[in-house]
Amino acid sequence: MSETASVSRNFSQNLDLLAEVAVKVGLGLQPGQELVMTASLDSLALARRITEHAYRAGASLVTTLYTDDQATLARYRFASSESFDHAAKWLYDGMGEAFKSGSARLAISGTDPALLANEDPDKVSRANRAASKAYRPALELITRHAINWTIVASATPAWAAAMFPSDDPETALAKLWQAIFSTTRIDMADPVAAWKAHDAGLQKRAAMLNEKRYSWLHYKGPGTDFRLGMADDHLWLGGGTTAGNGIYCIPNMPTEEVFSAPHKDRAEGVITASKPLSHQGTMIEGIQVRFEAGRIVEARASRGQEVLQKLIDTDEGARRLGEVALVPHSSPISASGLTFLNTLFDENAASHIALGQAYSSCVREGDKMTPEELAAHGANDSLIHVDWMIGSAELDIDGITATGAAEPLMRKGEWA
Ligand code: ZN
Ligand code: ZN
Repeated sequence: MSETASVSRNFSQNLDLLAEVAVKVGLGLQPGQELVMTASLDSLALARRITEHAYRAGASLVTTLYTDDQATLARYRFASSESFDHAAKWLYDGMGEAFKSGSARLAISGTDPALLANEDPDKVSRANRAASKAYRPALELITRHAINWTIVASATPAWAAAMFPSDDPETALAKLWQAIFSTTRIDMADPVAAWKAHDAGLQKRAAMLNEKRYSWLHYKGPGTDFRLGMADDHLWLGGGTTAGNGIYCIPNMPTEEVFSAPHKDRAEGVITASKPLSHQGTMIEGIQVRFEAGRIVEARASRGQEVLQKLIDTDEGARRLGEVALVPHSSPISASGLTFLNTLFDENAASHIALGQAYSSCVREGDKMTPEELAAHGANDSLIHVDWMIGSAELDIDGITATGAAEPLMRKGEWA
């Protein structure tokens, strides 16, 4: 098939194509629509190309909010302790207003995975908590898919250095860009057609799981014997989605997962992470967790134990699960053999679960439910949503039907 043949283009052509695909396929940006974008200063080149393509697609206004890693570090160095309970609520409220008045949302991911590794975990967790709280009303419009949104990545020097520590900075950056272009299908002859075919494949997989309606999943692997119950009226989703504003978008680029909502009170047993977790500039490694009745009752990490403990202490929902996602071990991202130290990529390299907030779109008619109705269906509620990877070439998963029969769903990390 022509769309699967990879072709070689120069860097500038690839960057331009990534911007075009993000606007047309990822966002589905409509003529006359506003766009709110967030990016770090290190992602300036991609942000400018996206801005260009957004206007060419008819955007009425593109507003980009830039962040700066050095300014973030200056806060940790010089700000008073009280500063870390503070967030720019006015800014998040403004974003929420923009979403409510029909703006699309694009985030460029590409931060330094270890930016805050040497900072006080207490300050990091308080700052995250304050930001999550302030952003919550706006974020809810995103998790409810009220508007069209997407996330794409830009290579940045610090991220590249963390991923390729033995290469010189220029080589590391080039390698990371190449990895981004290939995992987002930008190196295909026709990336738009390749995305359409890929999206159709994910939709088909989700439809199969929705037909099966497993009530539990049973995970078995090294350090893992874990049973996870599904939310009542759960829905499996994958690939693109029609947002509440009627616009079709593909929220993550890349995306390889089919995902749904587990029941917040139904998780039993021990589960071991298969990859390190890079969370808001800190690294957590060697995670092993034990669940009882949906709740984490024991959490260990070989590195970053304190950060993990603070994370699950954020609120009651932070120690319960809000997402379950299945990704075959042979996905292009895991086939690359790279650990990206970035959730957008790593969560699409392996089956994963997420602590915290559930997507209401993963419950039938969930987008129209009140928080109480969602909770009654078992959908979890929290300030956080943190994915962690549990899939590997050694993981087996059974689907347990309503009558209690076990069916092989994944074997050695692949669809059975
Ligand atoms: Zn996921
Ligand atoms: Zn997630």
